[in-house]
Amino acid sequence: MTTAELADGFRARLDATREKWLGVLEALCNIECGTEMIDGVIAAQNIVADELRSLGFTTETVSGGDFAPHLVARNGVGGAPVVLGGHLDTTYTDYASLPEFHIEGERAVGPGVSDMKGGVVVLLAALDCLAQSGLLEACPIVVMLNSDEERGAPTSRDMFQECAKTARAALFAECSGPNGEVITGRRAKLSYRIDVSGVARHAGEYVGPKSSALLAVSHTIIALEALNDRFEGASFNVGRAFGGIASNTVAADARALLDVRYPLPEQEQPIRDAVETIVAEEHVHGCTAELTLTSFRPPWRDDGTNHELLELVTAVASRLDQTITGVPRFGTADSNWFGAAGVPCLDGLGPAGFEEHTPKEYLILETLFERALLVAAVLAALGEGA
Ligand SMILES: [Zn+2]
Repeated sequence: MTTAELADGFRARLDATREKWLGVLEALCNIECGTEMIDGVIAAQNIVADELRSLGFTTETVSGGDFAPHLVARNGVGGAPVVLGGHLDTTYTDYASLPEFHIEGERAVGPGVSDMKGGVVVLLAALDCLAQSGLLEACPIVVMLNSDEERGAPTSRDMFQECAKTARAALFAECSGPNGEVITGRRAKLSYRIDVSGVARHAGEYVGPKSSALLAVSHTIIALEALNDRFEGASFNVGRAFGGIASNTVAADARALLDVRYPLPEQEQPIRDAVETIVAEEHVHGCTAELTLTSFRPPWRDDGTNHELLELVTAVASRLDQTITGVPRFGTADSNWFGAAGVPCLDGLGPAGFEEHTPKEYLILETLFERALLVAAVLAALGEGA
């Protein structure tokens, strides 16, 4: 079969299954899938696992500890696998204020549609195209969909890192850039919790120096935010802080949550040291602070490891009349585990998505089917070279 005939076959299959995939996307978006909503994540996982099994994949789950289990599916072909990666959880903690899935002109709108139910549907539709063309067994494929991505993958990192030891390539389907760009590298992430202890007193009756945990954490936040100017390409953000019990009480406790992103592996230790020094400082007399690292993803440097893979994707895309460019992205994802381990990796193979993590989240619907076509053709090309 020529490349053009193959692409025509994929296109015909996508036309024939368009309504079906829209239905799957709608169902996945309308299930409440916040990371902590375990029943919802499992329900979404069951939909995806059924689709994969109907294509001939075997599925298993890996324990997610306090989160929903993670889904791993294999096509049963031996050898170094191509990993197709993504996640089924969303960042939301309350779905009541979010719109139900709906179509608005060229957009599909709904919770998690862009991050990343759309990408999951891209993977399913691409694998369905391969199966229809009898090409699913051309190369070993492992699909890995975790349930704790939005919390930094604390219980799924081991399964990704283990798989990275033998993977031939990894393709992740987080949403693309606005013009269909694929992602060729990502910064690292460190997340911290800072717990400050002070001394509670009656605010109205006590006069004199006081040990307010809220005052102490305020100084800590100002000092941490000042690090934004100190490390090139790094970002420091205290995204949440709270403490105390009432205005008439000196706050005995306070908590702040810090998120740090940086591009280079050699920045990790100096950044860790700087954060530890600031948190250890007694900003307010009598207050103490404890620092806990809550999540970490290593930097995935755009160092040339994936250039051959990017060239293949670009060449396949141009035969489909698509234009693909590669760009690094600031945010982290589970593709970091593969990129940091030296596996040729690309992310952003999902549709063009916008406004992730907000109620306005949407994707450009046509790009979902363009991406499914692209991923199917890329997997067919990787199968030829297997
Ligand atoms: Zn995501």
